[in-house]
Amino acid sequence: MPSILNADLHCHSVVSDGTLTPEALAERAAANGVELWALTDHDEIGGQHRARAAAHANGMKYLTGTEISVTFANETVHIVGLGFDPDDEGMKKGLIATRGGRGERAQEMSEGLAKVGIHGAYEGALKFVGNPELISRTHFARFLVENGHCKDTHEVFRKFLTEGKPGFVPHRWATLKDAVHWITAAKGIAVVAHPGRYKFTANEEYALFLEFKAHGGQAIEVVTGSHSAAEYVEYADKALEFGFAASRGSDFHSPDESHIDLGKLPLLPGKLTPVWELLEDRIQ
Ligand code: AMP
Ligand code: MN
Ligand code: MN
Ligand code: MN
Repeated sequence: MPSILNADLHCHSVVSDGTLTPEALAERAAANGVELWALTDHDEIGGQHRARAAAHANGMKYLTGTEISVTFANETVHIVGLGFDPDDEGMKKGLIATRGGRGERAQEMSEGLAKVGIHGAYEGALKFVGNPELISRTHFARFLVENGHCKDTHEVFRKFLTEGKPGFVPHRWATLKDAVHWITAAKGIAVVAHPGRYKFTANEEYALFLEFKAHGGQAIEVVTGSHSAAEYVEYADKALEFGFAASRGSDFHSPDESHIDLGKLPLLPGKLTPVWELLEDRIQ
């Protein structure tokens, strides 16, 4: 694969909190010029075989993908896995355990929202859920928009679903070590997703990168729908400083909610090692 490539290695389908099927995403990605694609549903790899078939049907190369929720320094950090074996048992078991607490957490979120007068949020969110094991804050956000509490999902997160707000329930996800090991043991590459999005101090971010690397992590997202143009530059420099390869992904969830479409981000800066160069033998 050439180093200058329209690769989109981060997006979500109805298998987690996206609104499109893997097939519809593949069609949309190909129509937008994507050449190498990965579907990275949260904590779930159940859509991987479908996604790969759909990629091929639309003329794209494919890398397996997922986005694992991790708790690090009391913050939720997302680790993308790329190019792993989608049938790896250790990875499947790890992800089942990671997503296991979601149902109970959703019930507690609903109780928190009921206290501020929003009733039936659990049942309401469930109507938007494609995969019952993967009820997420995004599904609550869609319910609160639908019933007129907020104008869009960003407003819901700001007012109801982030730390200190009535629908927020703290949760302990996987450890950084476990998530990186599940990915690497399944012959994949671990990538820190959207590093600019975490509310870390410089020291905490440094610790995240060093620990991630010590566990076998090899890449960070540089060009992502969650980064500003200034953050592309900042994280390109950090990739070079820490010796990480770089990834590019829209983090597309929905035509109505996502401001960056599949395949529409700027290309990776040329001085970086694209993560797909480390995955030549995993590209299908
Ligand atoms: P969960 O894994 O249930 O905690 O949900 C996290 C998901 O919520 C993320 O993957 C995003 O899709 C979405 N999300 C998080 N923060 C925001 C935000 N500020 N605005 C819109 N969506 C968000
Ligand atoms: Mn999401
Ligand atoms: Mn994420
Ligand atoms: Mn994502």
